Amino acid sequence: MLGLMQDWPLLCHRIIDYAAEQYGAREVVSRSIEGPIHRTTYTEVQARSRRVAQALERDGIGLGDRVGTLAWNTWRHLEAWYGITGLGAIYHTVNPRLFPEQIAYIVNHAEDRVMLTDLTFVPILEKLAGDLKTIERYVILTDAAHMPETSLPNAIAYEDWIADSDGDFAWRSFDENTAAGMCYTSGTTGNPKGVVYSHRSNVLHSMMVTAPNVLDLASTDTIMPVVPMFHANSWSLAFSAPMNGAKLVMPGAKMDGASIFELLDSERINFTAAVPTVWLMLLHHLEETGKTLPHLDRVAIGGSACPRSMIDAFQTKYGVEVVHAWGMTEMNPIGSAAGIKPAYAHLEGSDKLDIQETQGYAPFTVEMKITDDEGTPLPWDGKTFGRLKVRGPGVSRTYFKGEGGEILDDHGYFDTGDVATIDPNGYMKITDRSKDVIKSGGEWISTIELENLAVGHPDIAEAAVIGVAHPKWDERPLLIVVPKPGSDPRADDILSFFEGKIAKWWMPDDVAFVDEIPHTATGKIQKMALRDQFKDYRLPAADVAE
Ligand code: ADP
Repeated sequence: MLGLMQDWPLLCHRIIDYAAEQYGAREVVSRSIEGPIHRTTYTEVQARSRRVAQALERDGIGLGDRVGTLAWNTWRHLEAWYGITGLGAIYHTVNPRLFPEQIAYIVNHAEDRVMLTDLTFVPILEKLAGDLKTIERYVILTDAAHMPETSLPNAIAYEDWIADSDGDFAWRSFDENTAAGMCYTSGTTGNPKGVVYSHRSNVLHSMMVTAPNVLDLASTDTIMPVVPMFHANSWSLAFSAPMNGAKLVMPGAKMDGASIFELLDSERINFTAAVPTVWLMLLHHLEETGKTLPHLDRVAIGGSACPRSMIDAFQTKYGVEVVHAWGMTEMNPIGSAAGIKPAYAHLEGSDKLDIQETQGYAPFTVEMKITDDEGTPLPWDGKTFGRLKVRGPGVSRTYFKGEGGEILDDHGYFDTGDVATIDPNGYMKITDRSKDVIKSGGEWISTIELENLAVGHPDIAEAAVIGVAHPKWDERPLLIVVPKPGSDPRADDILSFFEGKIAKWWMPDDVAFVDEIPHTATGKIQKMALRDQFKDYRLPAADVAE
C-alpha cells in the first residue's frame, strides 16, 4: 500500500518561491564586481530569476541543457541559478582558479551551451573561446554601462539580456531526480570528473544542513558564504540561506582579510563559512589591526583540516564558535560536522578542542563506514584507521558520462579517498588523503596532524608535510613552512616545539623554509606539486629515531 500524501517534487526553485513568499523583504547584499555594495531582496531575486528563465528559453535552452557559470558569489549569480533550475536546465559552476586548459576541458565535456561570466573572466574566455565549441552565447554579468568591448561571440550584458523579459514565467515542473547542477572535481589524478546534483539531492541536503546539529540556520541569521558557489555548491548556502529566510551577504571577488572583515562588520554577519586559508587571512588582519568580531557567532570551516590553533583563536580570542565540517564535491557536499553531542557536552578547553578538531559525525542522510583495503568494516574505536566510505541521497552514484567507471562498492558505498578513524561516539577524524599519507617503516604518519601542530607555532603562517624517500624507512616526513611576516624561526626551534606532542618517530626529519605553499583551485595544499618540487631533497641524516 502506498502512502496517500501528495506528490510534491523537491525542486530547487521552490526554495526561492518560498523565500519570496515568507521572507520577501529579507536582504541579499553583494559586493558587486563593478565595486559598490549592491542591495536587493528575495522578492526581487525571485522576480529576476524568472526573467533569466525566459531569456534562456528565448535562446533555445530547455530541459537538460547545461549553462556554464564562471562567477563569484553575487546576487546575479544567485538569480541565474534559480532561473536555470526553474527552466529544468542545469547550472554548471566552473572554478575560475583552474588552469585555462582545464576550464576548456570541462566546458567542452559538459557541453555547456551558454556561459554566464563575471567581468573578471572575460579576458580568459576571450583566449579560450575558439576552443569552446558548444557555447552559443556569452552573457556578461553586468549592465550596459560596464559592458566591455569584447570579441566573445554573441555577447550581451546580463541586464540587457533579462530586460527584454517581463518575468511572467511559470516554473517548469518535473521529477525531483532531474539534474539541477554540475560541478567537476579538481582531478588531482587524471581529468576532472563531472558530479551531477539532482533537485532532490540539493533540497534534501539543504534541509539536512539547516538542522541545529549541523549548521543551525534560522531566519534571524545574517549569513555570508565566503565559500564560492563554484566550490561544491557553496556548501548549500545559496539554497539553505533563502530556505530559512536568512539575510544573505555575497562577498563578490574580494576574499582578503580586510574586505571580509569590512562585510562582517558593516552587515553584522553572525554566521559565515569558508576554507581555512580564508580564515588565516582574516585572523592575520585582526592580529595586525587589533580589530574584533562582535557580531559573529559561528563560523563553519572545512574543505581542508581546520588547525586546532585556528579553532582556539576564533573561540578564545574572538568568542566565535567553530563548526568544523567535512565534505566533498561528490557529496553535495557536507558529510559531517563537529557539533557537540551530549556525550561530550561536559568537555571544556583543551578536551573540547580535541572533539572540535575532528571532522565531526555524519548527519541523517549520510551513512559512513571505514574499511580495510579488502572492504571489511573496521571498528569505531577512535584508533583504527581505514578507507572512509559513504552512502546516501547526497552521494554520487556515478560521474557524468560514466567517467571513472563503477565508483560504488558492493554495498553501494562511495570511497572518499580519505583515510580516517571513527570514535565510539561516531566522530570521524581524517588522517590524510590516501595518496598523501606517509609510510615510514611500514607504519603510517598523518601529515594533517603534523601540519596542524606546526601552525600552532607562533612564527609559522602555513605548513605542509610531505614524505621524502629514505633508504631505511622508505619515507620520512619533511616539514615545509612559510614563516609569518617579520619572523625568522630556526629549524631546531620548530622541531623542539613538536617534542612531547607527537610520537618520537613522527618527528619530521627536516624543515624547509619557503615563501609560499602552492594551493589547488579549491584552496587545498597542492601536495603533488610539493612532492615534485622536493623530489631530490636530501634529508640530513639517514638514521632516524626508532
Ligand atoms: P577537490 O575537487 O579539491 O577534491 P573537494 O572539496 O571535493 O575538492 O575535496 C574533498 C576533499 O577535501 C575531501 O575528500 C578531504 O580530503 C578534504 N577535506 C574536506 N574537508 C575537510 C576537513 N574538514 N578536514 C580534512 N580534509 C577535508
